Amino acid sequence: MNELLLAVQSVDTQIDQLTHRLGVLPELVAAKHNRQQLLVWEAEQQRMMTRTAELESQVESAEQQAAELDMHKMRLSGQLRTVIAPREAEALQSEMKTLSERRDALDEQELDAMEELSELEIQMAEHGEQEPALREMMGLGDEALDQVQAEIKAEVETLAARRTELRAELPAEILARYDHLRSNLGVAVAPLIGRRCEGCHMDLSPVEVDIVKAVPEGQLTECPQCTRILVRKA
Ligand SMILES: [Zn+2]
Repeated sequence: MNELLLAVQSVDTQIDQLTHRLGVLPELVAAKHNRQQLLVWEAEQQRMMTRTAELESQVESAEQQAAELDMHKMRLSGQLRTVIAPREAEALQSEMKTLSERRDALDEQELDAMEELSELEIQMAEHGEQEPALREMMGLGDEALDQVQAEIKAEVETLAARRTELRAELPAEILARYDHLRSNLGVAVAPLIGRRCEGCHMDLSPVEVDIVKAVPEGQLTECPQCTRILVRKA
């Protein structure tokens, strides 16, 4: 029975280790990193698309305003041909000059926007070239992660089946004690090696060792310090 308990403990420990490994896989870290890189890439792509749309609407609005200014100026120049009073002509000319200045400023704004747009277009093309490699890396990383996770899960399943077999051979009250200790201490069964309990790494007194040794085969004994089930090594 002692050997059985040790075997159950060993299987449970292996399952614990594999479960822990699932959470700290380098493949998991790599997959998260890949995903993060793609998110950064997408955010930059989005930023450039938003900026492009802003600039395009600036260009459109500048052109519309320029057309309005041109029409206004044409109307004024029509009026200028018909006025006789010099003061009126002067006022019209001054207004036309203001319109021309506004028109120049608009042209400059439009030109700036168009320059930035053409720079953005180059940047977006370069940025777009990175996408396939990023997506491929993420795909490969996810595949590697899936594979190693599947392997570990298969191992855990095999161990769980073995555990079921082993537990079927143990009486219910012993399993209950084992499960209780395991949920409190993680490891429920410890071998006694020499005088030392391998669960808590404390030495038992010679009297305590004698008590443990006096327990007949088939009955359980526990470590006086940590209460784990002690198993004498033959
Ligand atoms: Zn102990």
